[in-house]
Amino acid sequence: MNLKDAVSAIKGVGPKKAEALKKLDIDSVEDFLYFYPRSYQDWRQATPVGQLRDGELSLIQGTVKLKIKGGYGKKQTLKLLVSDDSGSAEVVFFNAAYLLNKFEVEQVYFFYGKVSVEYGKVQLRHPEFLKSGQKPAYGILPVYPLTRGISQTDLYKWQHMAQHLLNQLEEPLSQQMLERNKLCSLMYALENIHFPQDRNHLKAAKYRLVFDELLFLQIGLLSVKNRITSEEKGIVFPKEITTEFFVNRLPYSLTEAQARVLEEIEADMETDKVMNRLVQGDVGSGKTVVAEAALYKTVKSGFQGVLMAPTELLAKQHFNGLREEFEGHEVEVGFLSGSMTAKNKRETLERLAEGNIHVLVGTHALIQPTVQFKKLGLVITDEQHRFGVNQRNLLTEKGQNPDVLVMTATPIPRTLAVVLYGDLDISVIDQLPPGRQQIITQAFHKNNRASAYNFVGQQVAEGRQAYVVAPLIEESETLENVISAEELHQQLQKEFKEAKVGLLHGEMRQAEKDVIMEQFYEGTIHILVSTVVIEVGINVPNATVMVIENAERFGLAQLHQLRGRVGRGRHQSYCLLLSKGETEVSKERISTMVSTSDGFAIAEKDLALRGPGEFFGFRQHGLPDLKLADLGRHTKILLQAREEARAILQKDPKLLTEEMAGIRAKTIQLFGENAVLSI
Ligand code: ADP
Ligand code: MG
Repeated sequence: MNLKDAVSAIKGVGPKKAEALKKLDIDSVEDFLYFYPRSYQDWRQATPVGQLRDGELSLIQGTVKLKIKGGYGKKQTLKLLVSDDSGSAEVVFFNAAYLLNKFEVEQVYFFYGKVSVEYGKVQLRHPEFLKSGQKPAYGILPVYPLTRGISQTDLYKWQHMAQHLLNQLEEPLSQQMLERNKLCSLMYALENIHFPQDRNHLKAAKYRLVFDELLFLQIGLLSVKNRITSEEKGIVFPKEITTEFFVNRLPYSLTEAQARVLEEIEADMETDKVMNRLVQGDVGSGKTVVAEAALYKTVKSGFQGVLMAPTELLAKQHFNGLREEFEGHEVEVGFLSGSMTAKNKRETLERLAEGNIHVLVGTHALIQPTVQFKKLGLVITDEQHRFGVNQRNLLTEKGQNPDVLVMTATPIPRTLAVVLYGDLDISVIDQLPPGRQQIITQAFHKNNRASAYNFVGQQVAEGRQAYVVAPLIEESETLENVISAEELHQQLQKEFKEAKVGLLHGEMRQAEKDVIMEQFYEGTIHILVSTVVIEVGINVPNATVMVIENAERFGLAQLHQLRGRVGRGRHQSYCLLLSKGETEVSKERISTMVSTSDGFAIAEKDLALRGPGEFFGFRQHGLPDLKLADLGRHTKILLQAREEARAILQKDPKLLTEEMAGIRAKTIQLFGENAVLSI
């Protein structure tokens, strides 16, 4: 038999079992090796019955003294009185007709199970058992997750079979890599993860397997993303040209966090290394002004800069902000988007090519080949997970190794940022400017909906504006109890006769959306009902209420982003979460929102609740699941694996040498042929 054979090659695995195994993601014999135990049973040492403790998983070895049957037919109960030198315990099996003849009085057995002690009575219910003398050769036995049609015994048997083929495994890592990272061999790991001799063997095995998961994840990401930084030299921006003049003329002073991040950026710019830096910061932490300072330095050094935003709205906002901030600094700011007239576009492109526009702001229209700079020095993207790396690369190719800054307003736990942005250095603005108001967040149960909207009415009467977000655009037949934006729009317009209620959703044409946004911005629309399209970067300081309908349907990151739309002006702002709080997870999300406004804390919580697989739709990226690795816990291994991934791709970017053959094969197995082709 071969490890690569399909499971159906195993005697006794017919189409039915094969189908069931598929549910466990086991298709080939090799997959058994990577199908890890859910837990382990320790059959090494029996606990004296007299020392059993409530709630503990224990093994006992004792003589069956009494066999007591109860009940009738299939429902029969079997009670065994089991003793050793130290005491007696009861072993109970319910519905146990089939077990009646398994035990003989005065014989010695092993029982393994959870102990319960009630009123001094010691019981093991439905323990695993073996006749003494049958005790397994391995002291610690695997316990596998099951699916209908597959038993523990099945898996145990097939695992043994696969274990016999371990020597067919190829070790993907070189001896050097193993030594450098203090790893055991793959063969050792895949044996001991199933049948460990002791805890230390298991620990070493786990370590190796976690390392591999994180290593290949990062090799995959780095290669898919084609982002191993070239060794080519970047621009050296002169030290003498500082950002001081720009910073000093701001109407406020930078926070410590802003100043630190700006320093990190400037230091990068001044070396000949090509800067690749991610700036993370919560909504309102002041990322933009830091980016502006970097643009200032770029322009004053004789280069051009470019800033790309994911939507037209956000790009416009950046454009207006930049123009204001650069006033009096002799920095020309230009704008480019798909919806501009051909004439405007042509003019802008001409001025850009001549170098008369210093900073160009726009949407992904910026990546078109007609966009040519005279001397591009700094590329900034405002991402929020929206740009593919290819788009970013198309921009950087418009200059000669320009420096790159990536801004993201969705806080990501550090470990995850390392994975998502494998090759970027990370700066974090973890502090809000002083005096920022706290947004008051309150959860409303469905029954209290009316009082939430009363409050909206009061705020509108006082001259403020409100957002109301619904999860769907139109009414849905399949999703009962979920309100749509269209329904809500009608309801609210009826309810608030004095106010103007607008509607915004993702299926509207851009021009329509722009009109609505403009009206909301100007205050002629008082209540804006929308789907999550407003998630990205809208800034209306007079809006003080964010109502989220069916809040239980939104992820934490999304809720946090939505809340960030208010609290932008001088009025106290509110976030009202309307929900039915159905599941534990949704309840926990909502209580997290109510209790904290710290984006990083929320992101950590989000990661914990959803798991890395779903975090930011990871799965959609086609990333392999992490079975053992836990991004929240294995930070150190993650960083170590990252170093190794970088070293590997730096040494052999296309993984073509003999040394990397195993790594190449594994990468293809996990990510597909395309991943490696694109390296
Ligand atoms: P972000 O892009 O991180 O969401 P912005 O850069 O848009 O945040 O900043 C939000 C607001 O805070 C802007 O109006 C900006 O002028 C202001 N701001 C930025 N930094 C400071 C600071 N250090 N002190 C006071 N206000 C600041
Ligand atoms: Mg540089």
